[in-house]
Amino acid sequence: MGDPASSTKEDRGERDSVAFDVAIVGGGPAGLSGAIWLARYLHRVLLVDSGDPRNWETRGINGFLGHPGIRPAELRGLGRDEARRHGVELVDAMCETVSKIDDETFELVLTDGTHYRGRRLLLTIGLKDVWPDIPGLEHVYGNDAHVCPDCDGRDCTEKKVVVIGTGRKAVGMALNLTTWTNQIIICTNGKPADFDLPEYCQKLDALNIPVIQAPITRIHHAGSRVQSLDFAEGMSLDTDKIFLAVAQYPADDLGAQLRCERDAGGHIIVDDAYHTSVRNCFAAGDIVPGPQLAIAAAGDGAIAALAIHKSLVPEARKLEKLEVAEY
Ligand SMILES: Cc1cc2nc3c(=O)[nH]c(=O)nc-3n(C[C@H](O)[C@H](O)[C@H](O)COP(=O)(O)OP(=O)(O)OC[C@H]3O[C@@H](n4cnc5c(N)ncnc54)[C@H](O)[C@@H]3O)c2cc1C
Repeated sequence: MGDPASSTKEDRGERDSVAFDVAIVGGGPAGLSGAIWLARYLHRVLLVDSGDPRNWETRGINGFLGHPGIRPAELRGLGRDEARRHGVELVDAMCETVSKIDDETFELVLTDGTHYRGRRLLLTIGLKDVWPDIPGLEHVYGNDAHVCPDCDGRDCTEKKVVVIGTGRKAVGMALNLTTWTNQIIICTNGKPADFDLPEYCQKLDALNIPVIQAPITRIHHAGSRVQSLDFAEGMSLDTDKIFLAVAQYPADDLGAQLRCERDAGGHIIVDDAYHTSVRNCFAAGDIVPGPQLAIAAAGDGAIAALAIHKSLVPEARKLEKLEVAEY
């Protein structure tokens, strides 16, 4: 056995951390936008990304100003090029742990053991969706099967839509979709409907939205287009579009590791400046409560970046806050 006193720092897992002004974990629209803004303020910025975003399967991002229908990979590529041009250090890796050493030091450890330090931390790790296990879904997900009426409802105009899910989430999704179509059916896929408030059934009845409780056995498709659903009881249903009212969970537990305050769904709670309950740790994008849109995530990232910059500027370069609002 070697003498511990003579072993190198690397042997002892004590590698020197590389220090940045801001360390960002998550390189989707929120993280990339935050990184670009922070680098424009001349901060030294690290962006660690494991390359597994939630919207990977979607064929195009709707409603992103100036880039209608842009593919997720293309938007990321553009964002990464822009970040690189501003001097952001992009590291393609999984951040395994984050810890707070003191108010000016967060430490990130990647799966390969590399350590980084940042004076500020921005978590933009996103969410994951829980897919129902239905044969055929993998072929149509992102093209004719969606999770967000706000993003994809417009493409359902006057089409036959099936909402797969239960409870308030499924009812809310079906009602939301009535903006575009009146041909909606809810399928609980073998689960109890869980419509615990009378309002749910009243509203579904009034809008002629039936509920089928039988398990779905297969989604028939032609390429990535949905054609019909088969049910365990032998019934078949023609459909054009599927919406999944699915559960979600945080893409990683970094918020929990830092003991950031979170809501029941695991979203990290932030204030108007995207500051978490942990001093100098910020969060933005899908991982915080609110709308889940690519353009909103990019906007969140930018606002968080402005707040982070402000927190790094010495008091000598800032005016004191006025007691009353200035008009
Ligand atoms: C199927 C689908 C279709 C959608 N369509 C639209 C649409 O048409 N229009 C629209 O506006 N929005 C759409 N959205 C929503 C949109 O994609 C999200 O709101 C947006 O991607 C959120 O951005 P984000 O940066 O918060 O997270 P993400 O884009 O999910 O990025 C998070 C990143 O963090 C990384 N990460 C997580 N944990 C770690 C870790 N520990 N270490 C390193 N990296 C980590 C992940 O790999 C990922 O790259 C859609 C979503 C889905 C699922």
